[in-house]
Order: sequence, then structure tokens, then C-alpha cells
Amino acid sequence: MPRSSSVSSKSAKTPAKPSAKPLPPKPSRARLAVVFGDQLDLDAAIIRSLAPDDTVLMMEVANESQYVPSHMQRTTLFLSAMRHFAAELIEQKIRVKYITLDDPKNTGAFETEIARACDALNPSEIVCTHPGEWRVMAMLERVRDSTGIPLRIMPDEHFFTTKEEFAAWAKGRNSLTMEFFYREQRRKTGYLMEGSGKSAKPTGDTWNFDKENRLPFGKQGPNPKPRIPSSFKIDEITREVLAAMKRVLPDLPGSIDSFAWPVTRKQALASLNDFIKYRLANFGAYEDAMWTGEPTLYHSILSSSLNMKLLNPRECCERAIESYESGNAPLQSVEAFVRQIIGWREFVRGVYWLEGPEYADRNGLEQQGKLPDFYWTAETDMACMKACVGQVLDTGYGHHIQRLMVTGNFALISGVHPRAVSDWYLGMFVDGVDWVTLPNALGMVMHADRRPNATKGVTGLVGTKPYAASGKYIERMSNYCANCKYKPGERSGPSACPVTVFYWDFLIRTREKLAQNQRMAMILKNVDRLTPQIQTQITIDANLLRKKLGVTPM
Ligand SMILES: Cc1cc2nc3c(=O)[nH]c(=O)nc-3n(C[C@H](O)[C@H](O)[C@H](O)COP(=O)(O)OP(=O)(O)OC[C@H]3O[C@@H](n4cnc5c(N)ncnc54)[C@H](O)[C@@H]3O)c2cc1C
Ligand code: SF4
Repeated sequence: MPRSSSVSSKSAKTPAKPSAKPLPPKPSRARLAVVFGDQLDLDAAIIRSLAPDDTVLMMEVANESQYVPSHMQRTTLFLSAMRHFAAELIEQKIRVKYITLDDPKNTGAFETEIARACDALNPSEIVCTHPGEWRVMAMLERVRDSTGIPLRIMPDEHFFTTKEEFAAWAKGRNSLTMEFFYREQRRKTGYLMEGSGKSAKPTGDTWNFDKENRLPFGKQGPNPKPRIPSSFKIDEITREVLAAMKRVLPDLPGSIDSFAWPVTRKQALASLNDFIKYRLANFGAYEDAMWTGEPTLYHSILSSSLNMKLLNPRECCERAIESYESGNAPLQSVEAFVRQIIGWREFVRGVYWLEGPEYADRNGLEQQGKLPDFYWTAETDMACMKACVGQVLDTGYGHHIQRLMVTGNFALISGVHPRAVSDWYLGMFVDGVDWVTLPNALGMVMHADRRPNATKGVTGLVGTKPYAASGKYIERMSNYCANCKYKPGERSGPSACPVTVFYWDFLIRTREKLAQNQRMAMILKNVDRLTPQIQTQITIDANLLRKKLGVTPM
């Protein structure tokens, strides 16, 4: 690492002669600019606002990898990217106080580290870009109150929509439908729009090409064969991070062996180029498909760089649109990619800030089960779960459908507590940050954010109905079932697919709650067609399976 645990771009002055009484700290007009690991944007308002005497504080604290167990690759990625970022600041002659993980004085938590820096530097003000979590916002306010030092929160310019704009859009609506939010985002950005003002219309006369997308690969598998995404060698800085982690955080889950994530803006840009050139064209058509041994397929794998702010969402969308305009990628793929970023990504952030900290405690389906052990080991005879969990342990990555329809679906239908599963997603994926993990895991996957809807009964806030699926869905969208001892179409007997058993059990045991949602009416009719004896047998089988897998009440 090119610096000590506390570094400055200015050379240290000769220390003053020690006096009998320690002098009070020198009053200072300089500010303390706190930069967290998910705020690594050299162009951010806070960095632009720095005066020569201001100090940037960056902290590697053990607590952030321990409050939910954090995958080795996730912690390594954050810490290495932070060290690279600090080095770039120092190169720009910015004063940086960097607290390394293994600094003997490191207290292990943001709150105590900021207080320690305030004691040492006596700043006139603490400044910070708006943090990405309620928890961190509350912590900054506590520091302000305990030190009496004013706190200034600067805008996070990374997003297209501020939390206030989202709240204004949401106000008075019966339901927050992502598609309507997305259309407003298209109009606002002008992305993939023809004409202007009221006569503006979506390119290709369609807002959403989902009907053309969502294709499976069929028996032959992915064609064209997905190119292996660009990967980045572990450098000296990352090696030093690994050494510090070995000393301070030796027991983190997951494997580090395949670590190849972008840790600098330059590498993140190379990753973006790689996606635009080699995978974007097939992104849309196959965004829901899965295949053994193909962890990334045509996905962008840009989420960690986006969430750490190494990439700006505008440049990602604009590069994709350029690719469409130059005839290198079809509209259906480019629209799908832009929708994920200006639609889903902004929508879930809006929901996170709109709903407040209580959102994390919702459990609308009243599920209480523990997360099965195989989420930490991949030791299971279910081929789909083995592939998707195994991949997460190896790389810290799974694409959206693996998260939603395999690991997420299983947790939903087997009855896992929403918080247990959302903590797993937060810690085990390299892109895990609370504002995006929580609405996806607790809302979209676990349907825990149910609320009355004036026209549709009781729906979820992020997803209008649960995405529950049987093994037949996994069979259609992947080749996992071909190599599995279970049969996706069977719901009883020795070859019964656990996903299918839990699917039917889920519909039976949550029937009353789901019946309040008009979009579930057709699906629940299938449950009513089962005889009471069959329903009882499914309940017995599912309870046995739950016991075997340890999905017992927390
Ligand atoms: C249970 C669950 C947990 C999730 N947790 C996270 C998380 O912690 N961090 C995270 O960034 N994403 C999360 N997602 C959303 C999504 O799965 C990932 O953003 C995506 O899989 C990342 O891979 P990619 O970069 O290859 O994305 P691509 O499939 O290439 O999509 C492009 C980009 O669109 C954005 N995006 C796509 N879908 C979503 C979505 N539903 N919500 C927000 N942004 C989206 C991401 O920035 C992504 O990089 C989660 C989804 C689920 C179902
Ligand atoms: S048969 Fe069932 S458990 Fe096996 S891979 Fe298919 S869905 Fe998964």
C-alpha cells in the first residue's frame, strides 16, 4: 500500500517541543470530508468542494464486514477500491486520513473512527455525500450530536432521481408501478425517445420489449457462446488488503481464489467497454436464461462498479444507446439494459428512502424459517441450488434470475424469514448495498412489503404479486434439471422436486393472504383443483422437507 495508516499529501511539520501541559487542540477552519466505500467518485460534489486544508477521512472498519457476514470478495473489493481511490486523491494533492483495517488504533466502527478523527483534527464541519443507508445516516447524526460539530450532507449526484422527486412521484398513487415510473424516467432523460415535449414517443413505438425477451436457450445451450468477461489481476494494493483481512477478518465466508473485480475507475471503464462490445447485443433476449457453468452469460456485471460509484449510470446508458444507434446492438437489448438502470435501479432506491427504516422489519407473509445451511456451503443435491449458491460462494455474483427465481424463490416458498434471506444477499454479493438489496430481497423476492391497494386488493410494494415458481419454471429457463436427481414435474414420491413441493405448499399455506390479491386469482384456482387429500399430503411432505433442511422457526 502506498501510504501509512494515516497519510497526508503535505509533509509533516517539525513537531513542537513537548510542554508540561498538553495544549488544547488548535481551532481549525478546515473541514472533515467523510468518504465511504460506496462513494468512490472523483467527480462528486464533495470532492469538487474540497479546500486545500480540508481532510478526506476514509475508514476500513471490521464492523462493516461483520454485522452481516460479508463474502471475502465483497470485503476485498470494497477495501481495495477504497485504497486505490485514496491513492488517486493523494495524487491530486488532496489531504487524506486513511484508517487501515489493521491499524492498531482502529476501533472497528465508523462512529468511533469519525469521533477519533474529530478529536485529532478539530474540524469546523463534517461533510459527507448523502449516505446510501439509513443506518449510516443515523450514525452521522449521532456523531454530530455527540461532538457538537455541524454536519453537512451533500447531494448524491449519481442518481437520475432524488429521493424527494421520487416521493413527489409516489404521493397519492394507489400502487407504485415500476413501469409507469420508468416511462417518466425515459421522458425525463430523453433516452430512447423520438421527438420532444408532449409529442415525444418511445423509439420503436414500444416502451418495453419484454415480450421479445425472456427466451430460454433450448437444448443446445447459449449461442453465441458468451465471451468470458474481462478480469483484473490482483495487484500489490489488493494483496495488502488480503493480508490485513487475514489478520483482522480471518473467518469471512466465500472463496477469494477467483477474485477479478474492477477496483479502479479505469478497470470499471474497461469492464463497461467489454460488456458493450461483446455481450450487450444478446443481453435482452436471454436476460432470464440460466446455464450450468455460465455464471455471467450476457449480463453486464457492472453492478458493483455502479454501486461503488466507479461508474456513472448515465455513461452506462449512453454507451448502450450509442451501440444501438450505430447498429451494433438491437433495440430490445438496449431498452432492457436502460430499463434496469433508469427504471429498476432508481425505483428500488426511491422505495428504500420513501419507506424508512421500518421497511427492514416487514414480514407480510409472516414467514419465520431459518436460512438452510446450504446457502453457506452449496452442499445440496438440488442441482439448481448447488449451481447458483456455489457460484455465489466462488465469485460473489449471481445474475438477476438466479437471485430472484432460484435462491430467492426457494427462500420464499420454503418459508424463510425475509430478514434472514435479505442479510444473506447483502453480505454474499459483491454489489450488496442496503438501498438496493433490501427492496429486491425483502420486497421483490419475499413479498414481505404487502399493503392494501385501492384497485387490486393487497399487493406488494415492489412486486405486485409473489414471483413464486415451481421446478417447471427452472426446467424451462435452464439446464439445471437435466443433471438433477429430482424431477421438476413431480410433487410427490422419491423423485419429487423440492422446489415443486414447496411451491404448492406455499400456495396452500398462504392461500388466505394471497387471495386478497386479485392478480393471484388464476393461480389459486389451480390450488382449488387439488383434492383435500392431495393438499394434506403436500403439507406433510413440505413440513418434512423443512425439517430436513433446517427451515425451522428462527
Ligand atoms: C434478491 C435480490 C437481491 C439483489 N441484490 C442486489 C444488490 O445487493 N445490489 C445490486 O446492485 N443489485 C441487486 N439486485 C438486482 C440485480 O439482480 C443485480 O443488480 C444484477 O443481477 C447485477 O448483475 P449485473 O450487473 O450483471 O446486472 P445486469 O443484469 O447486467 O443489469 C444491468 C444493471 O441494472 C441494474 N439492475 C438490474 N436489475 C436491478 C434491480 N432489480 N434492482 C436494482 N438494480 C438493478 C444493476 O445496476 C445492473 O448492474 C438484487 C436482485 C435480487 C432479486
Ligand atoms: S429438479 Fe427441482 S431441484 Fe432439481 S434442478 Fe430442477 S428445479 Fe432444481
